[in-house]
Amino acid sequence: MDLDLLDRTLADEDQPRFRAKQVWEWTARGAAGYEEMTNLPAALRATLAERVPFSSLTLQHEAHASDGTVKALFSTHDGRAVEAVLMRYKDGRRSLCLSSQSGCPLTCTFCATGTMKFGRNLTASEILDQALHFRRIEEVDHCVFMGMGEPMMNLDHVLAACRALPSIGITHRRTAISTVGWIPGIERLTDSEMPIRLALSLHAPDEALRSQIMPVNDRYPLRDVLRACRDFYEKKRRMVFIEYVMLGGVNDGYAQALQLARLLEPWMFKVNLIPYNPTDSIYDGSSREAIETFRAVLEEHGISATVRLTRGRDIDAACGQLAVKAGAA
Ligand code: SAH
Repeated sequence: MDLDLLDRTLADEDQPRFRAKQVWEWTARGAAGYEEMTNLPAALRATLAERVPFSSLTLQHEAHASDGTVKALFSTHDGRAVEAVLMRYKDGRRSLCLSSQSGCPLTCTFCATGTMKFGRNLTASEILDQALHFRRIEEVDHCVFMGMGEPMMNLDHVLAACRALPSIGITHRRTAISTVGWIPGIERLTDSEMPIRLALSLHAPDEALRSQIMPVNDRYPLRDVLRACRDFYEKKRRMVFIEYVMLGGVNDGYAQALQLARLLEPWMFKVNLIPYNPTDSIYDGSSREAIETFRAVLEEHGISATVRLTRGRDIDAACGQLAVKAGAA
């Protein structure tokens, strides 16, 4: 829902100021439409239904994985594709994976989104409407900006959406923004008053390999990115999560695990090893044994490391698989 348009429309209609709050409260609690907002006059509900689209996104398709993961494909008013994912965990956690852009301008070689044509930045409403879609299905409590796009390249809209997430049930502390290492964005998040978590997609322990698999490393080299992450930690006192996708024979060797451990201060960083989800790229995922060994080496050197549960792979909803398949949009 476009909250600015809502405000303007209510003002046009000479409505008291509390109306916007009423509409938002219903929406944030998962109402399906204006017709449910019984404390609004019926005539106003009809006007709003006509003038303020309840969602800025149109649902095109929804896929349900065998593990409970739900992937939604939406389109914007100008026909851009947007995907978002709801992950359900056994402990009851309900975590959303939201997109910040339609497509992605960066070209990380292992990521399906990077191979799709870049569309545009999403507006705050388009980001929020992804979350609201799932809130209408059930209560949600965590959110990661790990869908399509680089959130730090669209940080104004991402932060505007984050500001509204607590009323949907997702506190800032349970929100994480993941980045390739876009330093200006990391610096701005450091200065933001919201206690949002930072996650860094690191993926290679040395500059040369990182530049090879993530060309953005030429612009923002790992050394400088890690410095920005340390500043984030110093200011926020919140651990930075390192994401590391395990590519067989590329970044998963013993020496690379050692190198990674030496790069990171154990009290500042926590590593999440991500099993590679197949896309149409040139890579193979590391074997389970290789991932386990890599994790053990990190742990031996004091770096806490977990292997991420893969969710939604059977519906192409897993990390790096968000790219609209030809013909789907
Ligand atoms: N652009 C931001 C937000 C996207 S997060 C970022 O890169 O951090 C998506 C995460 O999934 C990133 O860590 C990305 O590197 C990872 N990823 C991309 N392709 C993947 C794949 N095929 N398998 C597993 N993880 C992948």
